[in-house]
Amino acid sequence: MNATNKYKIKAFNDEICICDVCGKSELKGTYVMLDLETNEEFRAGSTCGSKIAKWTNKEFTNKVKQLNEENLLLAINEFKNSIEYINNNKDLEESYFFEYEERKAYIKNSTELLRLKKIEIKNKYNVLF
Ligand SMILES: [Zn+2]
Repeated sequence: MNATNKYKIKAFNDEICICDVCGKSELKGTYVMLDLETNEEFRAGSTCGSKIAKWTNKEFTNKVKQLNEENLLLAINEFKNSIEYINNNKDLEESYFFEYEERKAYIKNSTELLRLKKIEIKNKYNVLF
């Protein structure tokens, strides 16, 4: 395995703000890096992450961008296939000809559940949509 594809960036979040490589703390967040040879995960800031993986800063940034795009697609897909989304759509369709207040009441419950589902998925994938 070539050094430049020995590692994969799995995620970025602020669950842990200490770099496992250099020990620097109080980072805004850390990247979860996976060593594809040993299957071991570690946390790193962008400087240490690119150094270890032998990527340039630009390569690191591109990989983060790619990861974010993948996560966004996964998040939207999971959201649109969720039972909350399906139920809310059903309520919206069923109440299409209702009066405004009646419709609002009819969809209230499923809309709230959908709102919570969206927050859950946003947090899971660390993306905005
Ligand atoms: Zn570091």
